Amino acid sequence: MTINDTLPDDFGRSFIRGLRDILGGAAEPLGDLDRRAGDGDFGTNVRTAMKLADRNIEDSEPSSYREWVTAMYMAWLGVGGTSGPLFGMFFRDLAKAADGEDAPTLAQFADALGAGQATVQKYGEAKVGDKTMVDALDPAVTALRGAVDSGKDASSALAEAEQAAVEAARTTAETVARRGRASYVGDVAKGVIDPGAAAMALVIGAARAAADGGDVDTAWIG
Ligand code: ADP
Ligand code: MG
Repeated sequence: MTINDTLPDDFGRSFIRGLRDILGGAAEPLGDLDRRAGDGDFGTNVRTAMKLADRNIEDSEPSSYREWVTAMYMAWLGVGGTSGPLFGMFFRDLAKAADGEDAPTLAQFADALGAGQATVQKYGEAKVGDKTMVDALDPAVTALRGAVDSGKDASSALAEAEQAAVEAARTTAETVARRGRASYVGDVAKGVIDPGAAAMALVIGAARAAADGGDVDTAWIG
């Protein structure tokens, strides 16, 4: 492990606060995607989750990485749809990245992201290519693990993961869903990015932004 493996002390706070703003701000276009390719409830689910996250943050006054991410996972577990429980269990795995009060190392974060992917696939039973959030998560985990193994610093490692996730999310427009309610509409979903994959790419982007202090581009979502 190298010195470059560290994430900022306030990583949890910046990650979750940033994600709350990014997802909240993209709820409309994300909802539009689900209206075109699914049953249209994803925008409402995102809005509800972010409202619950705000309330959890206010009530619990998180002070550690684990507490910040817990506020986010509890919020998603209070939301319906398929995405609510899946994002809930995903963020619960992310929360476990750090032991104690400190922010996780980059390697711990990468492992937790991999654990989150395994959980999503265990319960959702989606494979890569089924046009779900897994399509964005899988290449992000692979890119992040590769970057960690080659000793990249946190900012560039997470930037590589974000780029892989965004690229893969955009590519979901070329596929037909085999999971979730979007699978009921078949070919109608062609040409439409999967909203859950787009949201997952924003999650990785928020983690990158928490490491390098930059912004997250959401213009590609529509
Ligand atoms: P629903 O599909 O029940 O309407 P939402 O609209 O809340 O659920 O969320 C839709 C997103 O959830 C999809 O864009 C997809 O990324 C994700 N999703 C749906 N089913 C699954 C699954 N079985 N595994 C992983 N992700 C899924
Ligand atoms: Mg839906």
